[in-house]
Amino acid sequence: MDFYLYNTLSLKKEKFVSILSGKVGLYTCGPTVYNFAHLGNLRTYLFEDFLLRSLSYNGYKIKRVMNITDVGHLSGDMDMGEDKVEQRATREGRSAWEIAAYYTDAFKEDLDFLNIIAPDIWCRATDNIPEQIALVKILEEKGFSYRTSDGIYFDTTKFPSYNCLSHLPLDDLREGARVEKNPEKKNPTDFALWKFSPAGANRQMEWDSPWGVGFPGWHLECSAMSLKYLGDEQDIHCGGIDHINVHHTNEIAQSEAATGQKFFNYWLHGAFLNISGGKKMAKSDDNFLTLDKALRSKKINPLAYRFAALQVHYRKPMEYSEENLRQAEQGLNSLYSQVASLGGEIGEVNIDIREEFNAAINDDLNMPQALAIMFKVFKLDIDEADKVATILDFDRVFALSLAGVKQKEATEESELPEDIRALLAERAQARLNKDWPESDRLRGIINNSGYALEDGPDGQKVKLV
Ligand code: AMP
Ligand code: ZN
Repeated sequence: MDFYLYNTLSLKKEKFVSILSGKVGLYTCGPTVYNFAHLGNLRTYLFEDFLLRSLSYNGYKIKRVMNITDVGHLSGDMDMGEDKVEQRATREGRSAWEIAAYYTDAFKEDLDFLNIIAPDIWCRATDNIPEQIALVKILEEKGFSYRTSDGIYFDTTKFPSYNCLSHLPLDDLREGARVEKNPEKKNPTDFALWKFSPAGANRQMEWDSPWGVGFPGWHLECSAMSLKYLGDEQDIHCGGIDHINVHHTNEIAQSEAATGQKFFNYWLHGAFLNISGGKKMAKSDDNFLTLDKALRSKKINPLAYRFAALQVHYRKPMEYSEENLRQAEQGLNSLYSQVASLGGEIGEVNIDIREEFNAAINDDLNMPQALAIMFKVFKLDIDEADKVATILDFDRVFALSLAGVKQKEATEESELPEDIRALLAERAQARLNKDWPESDRLRGIINNSGYALEDGPDGQKVKLV
């Protein structure tokens, strides 16, 4: 079945054609690891997971790369200010490397809580310094760069299609970039490829280069690592809409200037998660909510946020409120009950409704419609076992852990005493919430009551010992 995606390059839904048949190279810009991810960031990673799972549902084999920005992202996005990771390190009295490692781990944990499939390749900017230097050398040889007192810059006037992604008049782009003044830059849109360590100040992360000791500009890592890890498979590149006018625009300029080849055929961008009536959730603002603060600490299943994100098309703004989140949790719990009320057998996937579902996800990831189609399955006049099979098949894309609900049902609980059954139900819920400490605690109580508990492919199994 044809797959359509909205491409920011053409501002149209286009039929997706991968470079290599049956395979997709996917690059998703990753986090700057100086703080926890907030729910807005996570909305973008959820959208990318819907994309990956939809491609996979269509039979594509995907190679997905995600970078970890651990150096070079400055507090002023236009190459001015302090390095965000180093700034945080100073504030917390830890090393920049410790800060980066800590927030990278926290990020990976968040992805796991949201059932987001981890990329095939994680790559850190600091592990790819020679590749970034090599790219700057090529740009220098080809005459795209110039030197100022604080670094090596890319001359955007030398790249005529600089506005191919933003579709903005060049004057507007320049005006947008004028916020932070750097008198040595030839044009406001020019950006740093390599920055020198400031004289007299100690940076923790810095490297030798042909131009002097310093560190790479933020945009450079994504170009260098896309080219390194995806090579000729530059199919899809994603991020949030805030990356269109600067970060992705600069990635395209420096990559295409260096290679003379097209850098990615499809560019997809997710809309913002807003809060307090249309205000973007941002790391630098107070309106900053993490998965832990907004959900886990309140004992709300993290998948409620995934369920909420599925209900808004990725190109439409989504509004956060605790009430919306609670409603999503109720909706998800009611879905779990509906699934649980179907019998334990798994039959055949219903082909007709599967076609409908496939058409919805292939229409630029229309998840709200795909969800509506799943809810239709409950009402179909077909075998219960086929309903189960169809819903579990759709859950390969939704990833709401519906199989876990069936497993919970599949245990032979009726033969167990009431209190053990209650503990098992509680533990199944804890496992759905990925609350592993709670799950372990409950296991301890069950084991101490004289039962042996095992987690098998069919869920929890207990026997008297
Ligand atoms: P950062 O860690 O700031 O580089 O951002 C990581 C990802 O989150 C990028 O793809 C951003 O475009 C995206 N992002 C940032 N803020 C939001 C938001 N409020 N809603 C959705 N995505 C966002
Ligand atoms: Zn990037």
